[in-house]
Amino acid sequence: MAFRLFNTMSARVEEFRPLRDNEVRMYACGPTVYDYGHIGNFRTFVAVDLLQRYLRQNGYKVHYVMNITDVDDKIIRNAARAGMTVRQYTEKYEKAFLEDAALIGIGQPRLVRATEHIQEMADFVAKLVAKDIAYRTDDGSYYFRIAKFPEYRKLSKKDFSGMIDGARVDVDEYDKDSARDFALWKGPKPGEALWETSIGPGRPGWHLECSVMSMKELGESFDLHAGGEDLVFPHHENEIAQSESLTGKPFAHFWFHARFLLVEGEKMSKSLGNFFTLRDLVLKGHKPSSLRYLLASVPYRNQLNFTFDGLKQAAVSVERLRNFRLRLSAGSFPAGANPAMQSLASETVERTHAALDDDLNTAQAQAAVFEMVRQANAAFDAGEIKQGDVAPLLAALAKFDEIFAVLDDDDVPKMKKMLDWATAEGR
Ligand code: AMP
Ligand code: ZN
Repeated sequence: MAFRLFNTMSARVEEFRPLRDNEVRMYACGPTVYDYGHIGNFRTFVAVDLLQRYLRQNGYKVHYVMNITDVDDKIIRNAARAGMTVRQYTEKYEKAFLEDAALIGIGQPRLVRATEHIQEMADFVAKLVAKDIAYRTDDGSYYFRIAKFPEYRKLSKKDFSGMIDGARVDVDEYDKDSARDFALWKGPKPGEALWETSIGPGRPGWHLECSVMSMKELGESFDLHAGGEDLVFPHHENEIAQSESLTGKPFAHFWFHARFLLVEGEKMSKSLGNFFTLRDLVLKGHKPSSLRYLLASVPYRNQLNFTFDGLKQAAVSVERLRNFRLRLSAGSFPAGANPAMQSLASETVERTHAALDDDLNTAQAQAAVFEMVRQANAAFDAGEIKQGDVAPLLAALAKFDEIFAVLDDDDVPKMKKMLDWATAEGR
């Protein structure tokens, strides 16, 4: 069976085929580095990590780019309040993101920073102005005229019939249902960071950052663009409008969106006291592998309800997998091979593959491996495992772990590192 994936653009599950034979060019919207990442952010980042690992396992050459949003409204505001430059302010959170990503087993994407592409962003705006798609306002800002892009809404499918031509919005995150000309570039404001460029002083809007960096790294048309479900509108709709207006070509082919994580059934919020960073949970004694396993356990298109019971259960599951591997690798077995175990191993490989082929059904993949562990443990207890069964069973487990990445026990050093950080921060 071919790999099938839901595409937000077509709103259906489609066969995934890259635009160029064996190469997948994919871009994920990365963190806005104004604070420590929370487990909701990592739900999305883990989902994209599972996807890129699975594509690699299927033999594709994957070019995986993620941006670091190190300039946006919140960063500018916070940096100004703290009396710091933007770089001074973001440095600490960017470093924390890299550490957290490693903590939770996210394979390194190629990372690109918004602040290192400012002039390219200004050039992009200038080209849109030359095409009469963008216009300048008196304060030195530039807006995208959405009336010039008739396909505006094709990703989000929102009804913009009441849209008013020329109405503007200049905040990066805005009202979920209003279509307005959005800021590509924001003119300078007293006390806020600015960059001097060929279109004047100011700073880029958030949407522009991703269009410029993704096309620079991956080309005008590439295979897949990913993020959490909240990015469909306005962020990704705006990226499409800007990019396709400029190039006249389709921007990303597949749009991959992970649904939100809730905590004990509720939206995470600081006021509810249910807001957790990855660091909070590790410092409470939860293992990084349990967190990764839990975040991977719910297929990315389903809401993930994070609970502490679920986290404990995930820890038990990881232990069970690790013990099974240990049992097989350390045990001594009679010569020969048991046909039942041989077919159990090969069927498990097929089942996990079929589950992941089916729009990355991670829950079914995990279930298939657990069924193998259950049956093989029973065979073990009955003395029915033979020397020749060990390698295929271990291989099935290893193949699963190429995607889920929880078998190697490096939890203790990772937790120790986190503890050292907390101590140094005086927490
Ligand atoms: P941000 O750092 O706010 O730009 O977000 C980084 C990524 O996390 C984006 O792809 C968001 O869509 C995603 N995200 C934010 N909150 C959640 C959540 N509760 N569950 C899943 N993904 C989220
Ligand atoms: Zn983005």
